[in-house]
Amino acid sequence: MQQYKMIIGGEQVAAVSGNWQPVINPATEEAIAEVPQADYADIDKAVAAAHSAFATWSKMAPVERSLLLLKLADALEAKATELADLESLNAGKPIKLVANGDIPFGIDNIRYFGGQARVIDAVAAGEFVGGYTSTLRREPIGVVGSIAPWNYPFMMAAWKIAPAVAAGNTVVIKPAPPTPLTTLILAQVALEVGFPPGVINVVTGGGPAVGEPLVTHPNVGMVSFTGSTPTGKRIMELAARKVTRVHLELGGKAPLIVFADANLEAAARGAVVGAYVNTGQDCTAATRLLVERSCYDEFMALFKGFSEQVRLGSPQAQTTDMGPLISAEQRDRVHGFVERAKAAGITLNLGGELPTGTGYFYSPTIFSNAPTQSEIMQEEVFGPVVVVNPIESEAEAIAVANDVRFGLASSVWTKDVARAWRVAGALQFGTVWVNDHLPLSSELPHGGFKESGFGKDLSRYAFEEYTIAKHVMFDLSGEAKKPWHFTAFGDPDE
Ligand code: NAD
Repeated sequence: MQQYKMIIGGEQVAAVSGNWQPVINPATEEAIAEVPQADYADIDKAVAAAHSAFATWSKMAPVERSLLLLKLADALEAKATELADLESLNAGKPIKLVANGDIPFGIDNIRYFGGQARVIDAVAAGEFVGGYTSTLRREPIGVVGSIAPWNYPFMMAAWKIAPAVAAGNTVVIKPAPPTPLTTLILAQVALEVGFPPGVINVVTGGGPAVGEPLVTHPNVGMVSFTGSTPTGKRIMELAARKVTRVHLELGGKAPLIVFADANLEAAARGAVVGAYVNTGQDCTAATRLLVERSCYDEFMALFKGFSEQVRLGSPQAQTTDMGPLISAEQRDRVHGFVERAKAAGITLNLGGELPTGTGYFYSPTIFSNAPTQSEIMQEEVFGPVVVVNPIESEAEAIAVANDVRFGLASSVWTKDVARAWRVAGALQFGTVWVNDHLPLSSELPHGGFKESGFGKDLSRYAFEEYTIAKHVMFDLSGEAKKPWHFTAFGDPDE
């Protein structure tokens, strides 16, 4: 079986303990590779390598960091097919999704931050207090400990590594235990195009056992985490012990609001794509469809009809729309939500059965008329499970949409421009789409309100997250006794 080693200080290394763990193909349940099972000793080595690389990397001219990121993007593009095949095998993602989505978008993010590296946004020098000139410096933070989820492994690695290193930080990234392979390749390719050893380090292995020592390590200056809200809360608690900066991209429970004047076919197609993309394992997935009563039946017929056409199958087949869930554990979790919703008497319109056979597959599942406070309307399922509820008015749609603890993404479907603006303004979510659901762009920020976390990915706002603003203030007078000194020492001059 192929062994993939960790990348620490520019070397491919096994774990200090010598332990390995298998990497499973979720469509066949077979092991496809092995990766080292890191523990504190490996984290310590990786952080030391990143800490030592920071001294020179942070002092490099922005253009040098920029050129390396652009070279990395080109080199990854040359390997795009290999990366897509491996990602599909490891994460069970349909090949058409990874080849046309995850991999090119991840590469685009790296290229974007190659440009952003040279655009350090700071207030121009100026005299804000008489007799002084102020300047603002934006400085890198140091070693960033990055922790990623399994749903978009390559893309999440790109989102975490690119803005951090563009701003002059060094990184120790921990991919999610089930999906480490493409992150290891990304870091290896970075070395090949000339990134200095220690700038990008990858440690692999179990969740808390590897993640917690990374969060609490004394030489980690910032933790950038994407994952579930409970883990995000735990990381914030750990980080509080030494006031380590945190950047948290957490769970979601996106509403998709359909008004009767919308193009209903577009809304139903958008809802199918929004709900089942990546087998529903998407933090922006449309999971609460709120549909105006007068078009509810028509919309439901379209949505259910399209949902029945979603093709499950081998992730490697070009005709597969939906692959398996990531693991047996995740499928049990998803099915648990479904069973509890059924037991609560919520109407099941489609799916909801645990499939038999090999692979962690789960079919599109639709519930309807669920109470707003029910578990299936409030909690993140992270599977292809949707609720479709009727709403009576714009005010009710907004109230129900906002009545969750998450606030990552949402969409509104209408032809009424004034209503679209009104609703977009009222929704408490980091992204609001009008007449679509899912697209993102490297130039615009992605991030949450409320328990979906804080700190932005993508765009110059992400770049800023990985810097510290420093005010440098110059005295212009050269005087020993300043007019304001009397407030703390002596008397005012006559
Ligand atoms: P998770 O929280 O279980 O794990 C995420 C990462 O944290 C993994 O690498 C895991 O090993 C690690 N981890 C687990 N416990 C830890 C601990 N105590 N200390 C440090 N690290 C720890 O999430 P997941 O199941 O891998 O991913 C799914 C979640 O990610 C969903 O909630 C989804 O909404 C969220 N997500 C959010 C975004 C976003 O941009 N907001 C994007 C993708 C995924």
